[in-house]
Amino acid sequence: MRKLLVIAFGALFAACTQNTAPTGVSAKFDSIKDSEIELRAFLQDMPKGGDLHNHLFGAVYAESWIKWAEADGMCLDKPNLSIRFPGENGCGNMPDVKTALAGNQDLRNDLIERFSLRDFVPYAGWSGHDQFFRTFGSMAALPSRFGDMVAETANLAGEQNILYLELMHTMELFETILPMVANAPMTGDAAKDYETLMSGKFGAALPDLVTRARRDIDTAMARKDELLGCGTDNAKPGCDVEVRFQNQPVRTLPLAAVYAHTIFGWELMAQDERFVGTNLVAPEDDFIALRDYDDHMEQLGYLYETLGPRNISLHAGELWLGLVHPDELRDHIHQAVHIARAKRIGHGSDIIFEAGYKDLLKYMADNKILVEINLTSSDAILGITGDKHPLKIYQAAGVPLSLSTDDEGVARIDLTHEYVRGVQEHNFSYAELKAMSYNALRYAFVDEQTKAELIKKLDEKFAEFEREF
Ligand SMILES: [Zn+2]
Repeated sequence: MRKLLVIAFGALFAACTQNTAPTGVSAKFDSIKDSEIELRAFLQDMPKGGDLHNHLFGAVYAESWIKWAEADGMCLDKPNLSIRFPGENGCGNMPDVKTALAGNQDLRNDLIERFSLRDFVPYAGWSGHDQFFRTFGSMAALPSRFGDMVAETANLAGEQNILYLELMHTMELFETILPMVANAPMTGDAAKDYETLMSGKFGAALPDLVTRARRDIDTAMARKDELLGCGTDNAKPGCDVEVRFQNQPVRTLPLAAVYAHTIFGWELMAQDERFVGTNLVAPEDDFIALRDYDDHMEQLGYLYETLGPRNISLHAGELWLGLVHPDELRDHIHQAVHIARAKRIGHGSDIIFEAGYKDLLKYMADNKILVEINLTSSDAILGITGDKHPLKIYQAAGVPLSLSTDDEGVARIDLTHEYVRGVQEHNFSYAELKAMSYNALRYAFVDEQTKAELIKKLDEKFAEFEREF
């Protein structure tokens, strides 16, 4: 009976989306979808609107961190398998990366595995979550490599026929904003705390911080263009990818630092159209992240109401039963959409544990709040895979979805891999994949004119792609 219902639903879906029995491209898709390599080849070529959930530091592959460290005289903290910046006395007791790795393939392999999930198998006391988040403290690169990172990520996207990237990136935090607000007393009252921050060192420095960040973006984008040969006869595929950024405050830092960095991002978005959104990052299950979650939502809501709306996407509900106290599963997504006014949610894994989740799903569907689905990341970090994933719950409620990579370098994947996984684990049809490809542009935070141009380009690319079949 159940099978019959599924078949009936599938037929209805196909009829609604295509009005005809599968022919051409859908027939081709259906004929190859059980062969992973043929599916991969098909989906690699298939136009993919964008990747809306992509952390720049997590997007870079380990080999690139190592290559830059060798070239830039960075130091190797061997016991911790971590790249470190040289101090006044160079690397001191540490070897430099280049010398340490000369002829040492085993050490190179160890570093690659430390910076990623390559060959990782969870073991007693060390989970995918632990391995994943430790990588970020192990990798380091000079600020001048910012453009190299964008170039690598954009080119990987271009090679897979992806049109648009929204890269999360942290600027002006650890060296500048964090020490400036270290002693700022916070009360948890967003209005009062805003005054405290703006009347202190941070408020005075804000215009300069924004100016410098904009200059750094100019430099990085010029470097990206240079590395990829954009505007020349040898332009690489990454040149065709439209790149935008989201500011990413770190939710595990003290409340004042999160707030100040969010305010900084708000101003950056007002002044620079390349910064199109804001997003809070770092493990949502961290003690401070959980303790301050409500305050973070209030801060975002306050800025939204007083300084004017901005685009917000939030990692919310990247949690699961057993990882945290059950009380923590009840309202993160609710608060993100109702208080912080998030237009998109990253992960949203714990939706069914939220209090009143059916109303929440309806609200998200009615208000077109998209969920960014990161299949490999959810599996690696939380063990949420296959039919444990809430994807079908969101789909059934009519909540829009798109597939994204989260941290493709750390996970050693790409967006095509996530499309393949969607077919293998969730039996996505061609029509569903195509809809998600479009969603990654329809729900992008890029300005409306650019969005219209990108959608037109996607129309053309799909027409060309489908003509082959
Ligand atoms: Zn993420």
